[in-house]
Amino acid sequence: MYDIQKIRADFPILSRSVYGKPLIYFDNAATTQKPRCVVDSMMEEYYSVNANVHRGVHFLSQQATNLHEASRETVRQFINARSSSEIIFTRGTTESINLVASTFSDSQMKEGDEVIVSVMEHHSNIVPWQLQAERKGIVLKVIPMTDEGELLLSEYERLFSSRTKLVSVTHVSNVLGTVNPVKAIIDMAHAHNVPVLIDGAQSIPHLKVDVQAIDADFYVFSGHKIYGPTGVGVLYGKEKWLDKLPPYQGGGEMIKNVSFEKTTYNDLPFKFEAGTPDYIGTTALAEALKYVSAIGMDNIASYEKELTQYAMQRLREIPGMRLFGVTEGKGSVISFLVGNIHPFDMGTLLDRLGIAVRTGHHCAEPLMHRLGIEGTVRASFAVYNTKEEIDALVAGIERVSAMF
Ligand code: PLP
Repeated sequence: MYDIQKIRADFPILSRSVYGKPLIYFDNAATTQKPRCVVDSMMEEYYSVNANVHRGVHFLSQQATNLHEASRETVRQFINARSSSEIIFTRGTTESINLVASTFSDSQMKEGDEVIVSVMEHHSNIVPWQLQAERKGIVLKVIPMTDEGELLLSEYERLFSSRTKLVSVTHVSNVLGTVNPVKAIIDMAHAHNVPVLIDGAQSIPHLKVDVQAIDADFYVFSGHKIYGPTGVGVLYGKEKWLDKLPPYQGGGEMIKNVSFEKTTYNDLPFKFEAGTPDYIGTTALAEALKYVSAIGMDNIASYEKELTQYAMQRLREIPGMRLFGVTEGKGSVISFLVGNIHPFDMGTLLDRLGIAVRTGHHCAEPLMHRLGIEGTVRASFAVYNTKEEIDALVAGIERVSAMF
């Protein structure tokens, strides 16, 4: 049983109002709201455990270290990684991708070598590669898509050459909601002996992810999009790849011994974790993962699927509605335009009705160019949204349309 009232009660912010209207929060692809257990965990750890991790002999430091390392194990279980040394804590998806882009291109790529991305990537899976293109002369190749928002796998196959060194694609599009066939994408790359990075920012909160089952070489995500705190995220990497990559940043934690003559680096995962980690954040992230696990990722996926199908059907009833991303089995992200109402106007007027949506290019300008538009209005759903809220969105859009 999916107890929506109980879930909603776990999120204090959902009971507030904006402009005198009950809040309807449909900006979940940007960040999710936090359940009480996540915020309580941060407060409790600051109030009663706080101490720097790993280097202390004293009680608090050991307790904080145990919590931090237990969180790594919780992440490992959540994505079914083989070993917790394959779980690197970062600041989020963006930092995880930058880490791989920088260290992979430094150690595995030469001028003229190629990385394949897709046309529907978030800027954080484009610009880090472009920085390497500027620095080292690596080349970006782009998987095209259909008008509906499906990647063209036959075109993808044609992009491989003897210079292809890595594929880096998103699992779920943050604009179209397309769920990409990552297993097929990875299998095709592996047939060319090319490793794959999957951007899991928009999949991890909504789908059960098993990094071993899909055989991802790298998988990255942000804590704040899965009901966890801001400023903490994950880079999963297969040990065989992480061992090949040089450290990303230098400092404490990532070393074994330091002298002015020679410094040796720490073992995984610490080799990639220079400086004091956000140990309060990692404990809270683990709380968030336990929270969604208790609801059940399969239950979440089927509840959100029902919401998405309902919303797509209701939105299609609105005259002048243009939906972007109409693929089979799409995730809970819906992008749209109505007539020639500017997305900013639509978003601003919906906001006055208490409905929070996102407007603009959603950090995916190349995708906007492909679609021939400047931006969309985006409604994205999470565990606590309801069909009644979708009805309010539809009524709101109709009201705004009537004004134009
Ligand atoms: N990748 C995708 C697909 C996203 O949707 C986002 C955020 O919207 C990111 C990467 C970047 O995530 P963060 O800003 O948490 O690093």
